[in-house]
Amino acid sequence: MQAADQKSVAIIGAGIFGLSLAVALCDKNYAVTVFDRNAYHENGYDPGDDYAQAASVDLNKIFRASYGTKLHYQRLAMESRKAWVIEDEKRGFLGANDANGGRLFVNSGMLRVQPTNHLDTLEKETLANMERDGLRDTQFVKSSLDDRERAENLGWKAKLLDFDIPEASPVQTFDAVLDSLAGFVRCSSACAYWYEIAVAKGVKFHFGKKGAVESLVKRPSSDGTPKDRVTGLKTQDGVIHNADTVVVAAGSFSTQVLPELSYHLESSAGSVASFKIDPSQKDLWEKYSPEKFPVITWKATPRNRSGKDTGSIYILPRTPEGYIKIGFRGIKFTNFQPAPEGTTFTQDGKWSVPLPADESKALPEPAVYAIKQFVSIFLPEFENIPFSTTKLCWYTDSLDNSFVIDYVPDFADKSVFVCTGGSGHGAKFLPVLGEHAAEIFENGDRSTSYMRSFWRWRPEAPRRNGLEDGPGGPRDISGAFA
Ligand SMILES: Cc1cc2nc3c(=O)[nH]c(=O)nc-3n(C[C@H](O)[C@H](O)[C@H](O)COP(=O)(O)OP(=O)(O)OC[C@H]3O[C@@H](n4cnc5c(N)ncnc54)[C@H](O)[C@@H]3O)c2cc1C
Repeated sequence: MQAADQKSVAIIGAGIFGLSLAVALCDKNYAVTVFDRNAYHENGYDPGDDYAQAASVDLNKIFRASYGTKLHYQRLAMESRKAWVIEDEKRGFLGANDANGGRLFVNSGMLRVQPTNHLDTLEKETLANMERDGLRDTQFVKSSLDDRERAENLGWKAKLLDFDIPEASPVQTFDAVLDSLAGFVRCSSACAYWYEIAVAKGVKFHFGKKGAVESLVKRPSSDGTPKDRVTGLKTQDGVIHNADTVVVAAGSFSTQVLPELSYHLESSAGSVASFKIDPSQKDLWEKYSPEKFPVITWKATPRNRSGKDTGSIYILPRTPEGYIKIGFRGIKFTNFQPAPEGTTFTQDGKWSVPLPADESKALPEPAVYAIKQFVSIFLPEFENIPFSTTKLCWYTDSLDNSFVIDYVPDFADKSVFVCTGGSGHGAKFLPVLGEHAAEIFENGDRSTSYMRSFWRWRPEAPRRNGLEDGPGGPRDISGAFA
């Protein structure tokens, strides 16, 4: 029962952003109800569900604290890392124990493979920031004898893998930096776990038709301002749910729920493919296990000699089910469609939104090409093996790659708050994101969160991060299928 002095909050979206905020607001004594059109209470955030259409519903996502010059995200990642470890310990996973693939955070390490046989500029900046925060000892540069020795002493050397640079004569290998702080989080399992935490704390959930939000309910503000006040939301079953504040945490569908977000956000597709290994393939099963194989990211020179994109690829170690997941982010594909009338920001009357689930299975030709190039260098055993799965997973890109967590000034009485804009790097922050967001929710400009200035509503910020491309641009998916 909601106490008389308790404020009610309705959160749209039970992905990482919605769940994390729900738990943190509940801890601050708000009466929280979460709405999601997926039936997570029945399928436990099943990563095999192709129709879930949520970035958080996935086998795994990379955890890294390396953020180039963005020291604030480096710090947030370290805060989050600590929290993941504590959570795993509470669940009985001490040290490196990953019995039955049960950990949420796996410290497999991450090898940042360079485009060439030496370190690039971003890598040097990352190492400098690691140094500044006293973390340089956690990074091992492959070409440094001192670092290799340290890696050996600390048990990390086997993950400083060598990969030949194609066509280099004489033979050369890519330089690389092994980040021993990094690894991956088991994303779907983490959501299922946070859902249970939320339920235990008293957060209410509505799923499926009862959780699918059709519209926000508005009325003119009582204080005479021309702004509307949002008083709640209406779900697909026709029920109206009242709330003091509605939070939009609907991931790549956030602009469709709240078109006022259209200047800040754009949905774009990441291309994901996987191979499946059977436990009977003992050598491969071992070789690609998280104990033996790190996460690998590779930022090749973006184009090969014929002008095709081959870079910005990542791979995660084998899952307990046998999947090796490869992602291509060299081109985040846009899907421009006519925007509804009255949308506050459009490009030629259009905006980029996710394709329907059944059109999000095949990968565009440039992605397939790039992944195959990568496989030929990094996973030679799979060069002629067909992918086991392929999927477009939709990003919620913000105009500057930082999240958008703030009240929406277009509405009166702080009645609408947004918590979204994950921009391809939000999953790792699940354990701490909500605490920062809830602090901002309570205190706005007086918030003490060091993320406040980065996450605020920022209509004056230039629209960069690829969001300036628009329809017909180089990332438009309509021309990308062979
Ligand atoms: C390809 C790809 C790779 C990524 N890699 C990484 C990585 O390596 N590391 C990392 O940290 N992060 C990564 N991310 C980012 C991370 O996955 C996201 O930041 C995070 O999952 C976003 O969570 P969310 O809750 O905002 O959105 P989502 O997970 O999309 O959840 C939004 C929820 O809202 C619901 N919803 C939408 N509309 C409605 C409606 N009308 N009514 C009710 N419910 C609705 C959806 O069903 C969904 O459950 C990656 C993202 C992508 C796409």
